[in-house]
Amino acid sequence: MIDNHLPTGELQALDAAHHMHPFTEGAALAKKGARIITSAKGVWLTDSEGEEILDAMAGLWCVNIGYGRDELVDAAARQMKQLPFYNTFFQTSHVPAIMLAKRLAELAPGALNHVFFNGSGSDSNDTNLRLVRHYWAAKGQPERKVVISRWNGYHGSTMGAASLGGMKGMHAQGGLPIPDIAHIDQPDWWSEGGDMTPDEFGLERARQLESKIEEIGADKVAAFIAEPVQGAGGVIVPPESYWPEIQRITQKYGILLIADEVITGFGRTGNWFGSQTMSITPDIMTCAKGITSGYIPLGASIVSTEIFDTLNAAEEFAHGYTYSGHPVACAVALENLRILEEEGIVERAGKETAPYLKEKWQSLADHPLVGEAKIVGMMGSIALTPNKATRAKFAAPAGTVGYICRERCFANNLVMRHVGDRMIISPPLVISKDEIDTLIARARLSLDETYEKIKAEGLYA
Ligand SMILES: *Cc1c(COP(=O)(O)O)cnc(C)c1O
Repeated sequence: MIDNHLPTGELQALDAAHHMHPFTEGAALAKKGARIITSAKGVWLTDSEGEEILDAMAGLWCVNIGYGRDELVDAAARQMKQLPFYNTFFQTSHVPAIMLAKRLAELAPGALNHVFFNGSGSDSNDTNLRLVRHYWAAKGQPERKVVISRWNGYHGSTMGAASLGGMKGMHAQGGLPIPDIAHIDQPDWWSEGGDMTPDEFGLERARQLESKIEEIGADKVAAFIAEPVQGAGGVIVPPESYWPEIQRITQKYGILLIADEVITGFGRTGNWFGSQTMSITPDIMTCAKGITSGYIPLGASIVSTEIFDTLNAAEEFAHGYTYSGHPVACAVALENLRILEEEGIVERAGKETAPYLKEKWQSLADHPLVGEAKIVGMMGSIALTPNKATRAKFAAPAGTVGYICRERCFANNLVMRHVGDRMIISPPLVISKDEIDTLIARARLSLDETYEKIKAEGLYA
């Protein structure tokens, strides 16, 4: 379907003239022209030229329910008519925020029963950063301020969230990280595991947390934050030894564990939350993205009863956003969660389609360019390499080959992202087996074309 819009070239020129894109080299994009997406249904995007593209990234990891669900649109419209906005600051509340908080408390595991609403994942991690420091101050330990996180983790783009994140390119701009944040190395065995077995390496990386706590002093550490499975860092699935050891260490030192579930929440890993898949018991969960399937922005910090009780006994937490618990966003989230549950989307993805995708995805490992193929539920990655046995990197700068592959995918109407020389997918949970076959066929074709191209250009080394 093409709506009656301006010709693509004119839209691209206007886009280049006035629209600043996130995480984009503006001048390069301006020369090339952005691809303009005009509509979407299920797992399929349509662009301004009428091309149909398989979206194997669910937008930005968020459209778990798939595109085109009118129920979410209707929920938003109904709520806007009834109560488009009211705040929750000054002793007032409203039905959508109340019902969503209750719903999230039911869904979230263990003692995670209390919800602070935010506008996005970044906002939610900023909330968490202030909240854990306030929590320790309330417990009479105000010197517990340091939050430990991981290099190549992603926690958002605001000052606080980007500081928590371990993206060195982001830290290099704008004076980050802010004080009292420390980083340890990531559990990326493929790139950094050397001669260790994955499990030895997983333990070694987890024990860096213990060393870091000892180095800083346990009485100064507030929390450790991590994604159950790193997303933006390249879908890095940790070795099995990793999370149990992390959990042991956080418990030993009594520091809070924040699971950033912005990607892994709401079915992405085959269970409702990545913490369940990885058998983690966090004290706080960060949610966003799939909470509304991306139809409208919303974030949430879900905290344990112990944290909740401590905060309630303390002076007021001087924090909040105008749109904390926005009624329209909450109404859309409720409808999204209702459909995910009643239609058994999370369950079906976990039990049927994700295992099917796993088998097909892992079959890509026989391709000459592909080293490891990792996948958990509906998030997967493949490492591109010129030598599988030695897990070698390409001679060209990191990301050169990944970018070529990503361009081939895009030309073949498949959205698959690259992070350096890893290719990653995170399709809508509603993707069917037929669509998975199409995804894999297009991925293989794109890998073949990449292989030919880099050999021809002398980059296969
Ligand atoms: C996307 C993401 C965020 C940031 O969420 P925004 O809504 O973009 O602010 C935080 N943490 C993780 C793990 C993410 O993937």
